[in-house]
Amino acid sequence: MSASALVTVSNRDGVYFVEGILDEHSPPVLNDLADRIGKAPQATLDTGGVKRINSLGVRAWVEFMKKLAGKQVGFRRCSPAFVDQLNSISEFRGGAKIESFLAPYVCESSGAVFYEELTVGKDIKKGDFAALNGRPCKVCPKPLVFDDLPERYLLFLDHV
Ligand SMILES: [Zn+2]
Repeated sequence: MSASALVTVSNRDGVYFVEGILDEHSPPVLNDLADRIGKAPQATLDTGGVKRINSLGVRAWVEFMKKLAGKQVGFRRCSPAFVDQLNSISEFRGGAKIESFLAPYVCESSGAVFYEELTVGKDIKKGDFAALNGRPCKVCPKPLVFDDLPERYLLFLDHV
């Protein structure tokens, strides 16, 4: 592990949680994770805690995914920063299946922002933007409003 790394990995109940910032300091941490996954045929990665990714972090992640080639990899709770990269860099996903992702919602009454986990194929399907609507707000009686452009945020669904 690199002392300067801003990304951490923990394993809870067999799921690897990747949290923090993916950048030039990430390769040792991702190499270590690839070693931990080792010969396992499958791996589930929760990336809900990935806050920011710079261009060198993208490169590090693409290299990491190449090491997992041939495995059944699932991404869970992909964070907005992670979704941005899934949408713009075709190699970012590698061979992974996107199981779920975090969708930004805003409460129109209070302005509070919530990140709701949407399961691909259940809560949302390709092209079904209407499925984004109608989620209940935790603080007011009105439904939450999706806080991004659906066509842009859900671009990655075209490739799942
Ligand atoms: Zn509300």
